[in-house]
Amino acid sequence: MSNIRKIHDQLQNKEISCLELIKNKLDLLKSNTHHTVNSLLDETALALAKKVDAKIANGEKIGLLEGIPFGVKDVYMLQGTYTTASSDLLKQYKSSYTATAIQKLLDAGAIPLVKENGDSFGHGSSSENTIFGAVKNAVNPDLVSGGSSGGSAVNVAKEYTVFSIGGDTGGSIRQPAGYNNVYGLKPTYGRISRFGILAYASSTDCVGPIAKSIEDVRIVLNVMSGKDVKDQTTYASKEILEDTILNTDEIKTVGYFKNFIENDAIDAKVKADFLASIEKIKAKGITVKELDFFESDTLVSTYYTLAMAETASNLSRLDGTNYGARIEGDNLKDTYSITRSENFSEETKRRIVGGNQVLSQGFSDEIYLKGLNLRDQISENFEKDFKEVDIILSPVTPNNPPKIGDSLKDPLAMYLSDAYTVGFSLGQLPTLTVPQGTATGLQITAAKNNDELVLKFANFLKDTL
Ligand code: GLN
Repeated sequence: MSNIRKIHDQLQNKEISCLELIKNKLDLLKSNTHHTVNSLLDETALALAKKVDAKIANGEKIGLLEGIPFGVKDVYMLQGTYTTASSDLLKQYKSSYTATAIQKLLDAGAIPLVKENGDSFGHGSSSENTIFGAVKNAVNPDLVSGGSSGGSAVNVAKEYTVFSIGGDTGGSIRQPAGYNNVYGLKPTYGRISRFGILAYASSTDCVGPIAKSIEDVRIVLNVMSGKDVKDQTTYASKEILEDTILNTDEIKTVGYFKNFIENDAIDAKVKADFLASIEKIKAKGITVKELDFFESDTLVSTYYTLAMAETASNLSRLDGTNYGARIEGDNLKDTYSITRSENFSEETKRRIVGGNQVLSQGFSDEIYLKGLNLRDQISENFEKDFKEVDIILSPVTPNNPPKIGDSLKDPLAMYLSDAYTVGFSLGQLPTLTVPQGTATGLQITAAKNNDELVLKFANFLKDTL
C-alpha cells in the first residue's frame, strides 16, 4: 500500500488538510524521541502547506507528491537550511543552494520537514558518530538505528516522515532500512544526480529513497532520476511504471553468494532465515544458483581503502577558510590543523589519516592502486554473474543491530558489519533492502541500470515470503 497515494487522496478529497498533516508530523518530530532531528524546517513547511490547502480549496488538482512531507539526511544542500553533516565543523553552516535531487522533489510539491541525523559525513554504520546524540532504533530504542542514514530510516519507520532521502556510499541506506524494517533503495550509480550532496566517496556516493512501500520507493525514485549537467556521471533513465513492476514473470534465476552464507561470521538465525527464503523462492519455480564471490575481508578492505582515499580528498576543502568553524591558530598552518583537529570526529579523522596514508608516495601503488585493481575484478565478477542470473539475493547484514555504545569500542568490527553491502557499492549496482526474509531484511541486486528489475523482484518477494 502506497502511503503517498493514500495521503494524496485524503488531501485531494479534503478528508485532511495539508496544514493539519504537516503540523502533526512536526509535533512528532519536535519531541525528537529517537534523536533523528538535526533541525526542523517548520516555518517553510507550514507556509508550503498553506499553499497546498489554498490550491485544493480553489478546486485545483494537486500533483501526487504535492503536500507530502519528507525528510532529508543532513548532508544535502537545501538553500537556507543548516547542513551540518552531523559535525562540529559544519554546525553553523547554511546551504547557499539546493541539491538537484531535493530540488526535483520541491518542484513536485513535496514538503521537506527535517534535516536528519546520521553518522558524520556518512562515516559509520550505526549513527553514533554524530554531535546530535546516537540515533535510536525504531523497533528497540536500546539498539542502534544503523547508519549512516539512521535518522532517515527511523523517521520513516516511526511515520514521522512519509519518506526520507538518505545517502548510500557503502550501505548507508540499505543497512539502516534493514535495521528498522523499511524499504531503502540505492539506485544504480549515476541514476540520480549527486550535485549538492556533501561528498564522502564520490565514486560510490548514491542518493536514494527510504519508504514504507515499494510503490513509494518507485514514485520518489522516478522524480529524482535523470541526467544533470551539474553531475557528469549522471545518465538519462526511463520512468519505471507501476504496471511493469507488478508483472514479475520475467525473473527466472536468482543467485546468492555461497561464501556470504557458509561463513562463521553470520548469525545462525540470519543464515537459517535466509536459506528458508531461498526454499520459498525455489518453490515458486525459480532456479536458484550458488555463486562464488570475494571474501568479506577483501570486499571490506577494498571498499575502505578507496572510500578513505576519496574522503580524505573530498574533506580537504574543509579547513575553516571557506567553510566550517574556523579556530584561529598562531599562523595559517596552525589554523588549519586546529580547526580540523577540534572539529572533526575521531572516526572522521581516522578515515582522513587512513586515506592520506594509502594515497601517499611509497604506499599508493601497493595499497590504493591495488584497491582500484580489485574493484575492477569485483565488477568483472558481477558482469559474469549477471550473465547467469537475473537477481542476486543477500542478507543485508550478517548480524542483528548492536546495542548503542557497543560498536564504538571496536571500529574494525563495525567495518566488518558492512560485509554484504559494500561489494554492490563498488560495482555501482542497483540494490534494494526489503524488510522481509531475515531480521534485518534482504538485499535485492540487479545488473547496472536495471533498477526496474529490482523493484519487480521486491513485488515478487512480497507475495512469496
Ligand atoms: N558504513 C559504511 C562506511 O562507514 C558506509 C557508509 C555510507 O554508505 N555512507 O563507510
